[in-house]
Amino acid sequence: MGQKRISIFGVTGSIGANTVSVVESMGVENFDTVAVSGNANITGLAEAATKLNASIAVTADPGRLDDLRAALAGTGIEAAAGPEALVEAASRPVDWMMSAIVGAAGLRPTLAAVRQGATIALANKETLVAAGELFLAEIEKSGARLLPVDSEHNAIFQLIAHEETPIERLLITASGGPFRTWTREQMAAASPKQAVAHPNWSMGARISIDSASMFNKALEMVEAGHLFEITPDQIEVVVHPQSIIHSMVGYRDGSILAHLGPSDMRVAIGYALAWPVRPDLPVDRLDFAQLARLDFEAPDDERFPPLRLARETMAAGGLACCVMNAAHEIALDAFIGGQIGFLDMAGLVEDTVSALGNLRAAVSLDDVFEADTLARETARRLLVEQMSKGGTVWN
Ligand code: NAD
Ligand code: MG
Repeated sequence: MGQKRISIFGVTGSIGANTVSVVESMGVENFDTVAVSGNANITGLAEAATKLNASIAVTADPGRLDDLRAALAGTGIEAAAGPEALVEAASRPVDWMMSAIVGAAGLRPTLAAVRQGATIALANKETLVAAGELFLAEIEKSGARLLPVDSEHNAIFQLIAHEETPIERLLITASGGPFRTWTREQMAAASPKQAVAHPNWSMGARISIDSASMFNKALEMVEAGHLFEITPDQIEVVVHPQSIIHSMVGYRDGSILAHLGPSDMRVAIGYALAWPVRPDLPVDRLDFAQLARLDFEAPDDERFPPLRLARETMAAGGLACCVMNAAHEIALDAFIGGQIGFLDMAGLVEDTVSALGNLRAAVSLDDVFEADTLARETARRLLVEQMSKGGTVWN
């Protein structure tokens, strides 16, 4: 087999670094790396580009082009910057693209890769949450293939690979995050630093906070709804603090299949990169005697309102999930910036979704981008209003 042409978008992030590590495990010589992208971390971007001998490295930040050029001097690797350059690089033909930019910024580059018919390893869940139906329609049209990288969805994808019977239900596991046993009062006072400290997984800061609030699980419920042709009422969330079972699929004969493995994203990334075969990976092997037990709990909607929000926005359909996603990014920024408390994030998102409840369904991707912008503006306005009232006490 010849070299596989690949691109890694978001190469400087947590998923990006794990992808580079999987490429190294499978042999850098087996891959022809076309493009890598990053944002503020120019040293990291240049290092990854050099390690993989990429044709082009792109930073999302136009102000950092000179730095990138300097960092790549003498390597022969092309440097580019800005959102348009990201889309251009993602349009360059590849067999496989890792979509691991964080947030809605990942949507346009991912679409560009879809349109050239590449196999998309999708870590960027925001793409499916914001633009689900239209994104899937683009995939259908171009003949691109979508391989889920989010660990829960990758687990489900592995579990259904050889099944022809319809799924009865999906059981998406959640670790419960660092606040699993905290009271509402303690959660209301939680700091970003406390929220970033995930018990099992090492991930980017934003998704770690989303794991603590369960906004991550809310986005994953929507993601699952798009990926697996099931209705929202077939999706259940199970809290499983050890993060050993990555998700489960229930069938109509009462059987439940579970995917188990170490809490290491390289397993999911490797499955997507080597698919349809499995790669050899130097990850930890599970030791059941040492594990001794696996625990399960029902999630608490009172302390984790994003789960309810996800069910409501899925039921509302249209652009509601896009609004939830955009408002959530603003709420997360406000929490990280110390403007609002931890539980206020859900309050701000809920108010934004209610304020924009009458948006019709998206007909084109421009409708999605418009709704995204409108939701961000609305969330910012509601935030300012709430703060001018002398506080942000949504919870
Ligand atoms: P991260 O913050 O570690 O990395 C994000 C990447 O996106 C970096 O390369 C950064 O340079 C780039 N980026 C940031 N802002 C950008 C912008 N405006 N334009 C272009 N690029 C930008 O994030 P991560 O944890 O690697 O997560 C990446 C994506 O994968 C997210 O959508 C996340 O939800 C998803 N995901 C992550 C994990 C995990 O274990 N980390 C698991 C499942 C899904
Ligand atoms: Mg996940």
